[in-house]
This record gives sequence, structure tokens and C-alpha cells, in this order.
Amino acid sequence: MNVHRSCKSYDWESVPVLMYKEDGTHFKDITRRILFDGTTGIDAQLRYFEIQPGGYSTLESHEHVHQVLIIRGSGRALVGDSIIELKKLDCVEIKPQTWHQFQAGSEEPFGFLCLVAVDRDKPHRPTEADLVKLCSDDRIANFIRL
Ligand code: MN
Repeated sequence: MNVHRSCKSYDWESVPVLMYKEDGTHFKDITRRILFDGTTGIDAQLRYFEIQPGGYSTLESHEHVHQVLIIRGSGRALVGDSIIELKKLDCVEIKPQTWHQFQAGSEEPFGFLCLVAVDRDKPHRPTEADLVKLCSDDRIANFIRL
């Protein structure tokens, strides 16, 4: 049995708060916790990400899928060519090779569970050509943070 007791608000005993990514400046005010890290019979990692007001995740794309459940606050996300509002208990799936970025609103932390395969490809960031294409849509140009 592997129990992570909730302690404080959106924190779990013996689950360390990690940096979102090891390096880079293409994200802001976001932390990562690994709640479950794959085991026999389920090759998936369940993470909790929390973005502080005004913060955002990396704009990226990859072959692996994300299944996301919002559990704190609200925010917005770019998913492909859609910009969607997300609130607590909404679920969203990010399909392979889909540009995505999560952004917190200005008021409260935005927290979500994200399920991924343990064995997964590395994310890639947009090239200049990708950015030109993405930014040809004004809504996307105004949304993304790099
Ligand atoms: Mn991703």
C-alpha cells in the first residue's frame, strides 16, 4: 500500500515539491509533485502541477498524451488551436503532437493532476517556423508566453 496523506492545502506528506523542469526560462511560477511513479501493472505517472497567479507552463508538443484533471482554482490552456477556460474538476486530454500551454488566472493558484506514461518522449518547443504559424492566429499570438 502506498498512501500519501493530504496535509495542508494541496500538499501531501512525503511528496516533495519539485522544480517544474530542470532548466529553462520558458515557464513561470510552476511546481511539480510526483504522487505515483509507475509500478507493476500501471506504467503511468500521476503528477500534481501547481501554477501561481500569472504563471504558465512551457508551450510544447510531444508524442505522449496528457490526461489532466483540474483540482484547484481555474485558468486557461492552449490545446491545439483552441484556447479553453478550465475550472476545478474539468478534465482535458492533450493528444499526441498537440501544442499546449497552461496558464493560471490572476487571482489564485491553478492546480491540476496530469497522468502520463512513464516511458515517454521529450517535449519539444516551437521552432521559429512553428511560432509564425501559431501566431498567424491572433488569439493564439495574444495567449502564448515564451
Ligand atoms: Mn506537455
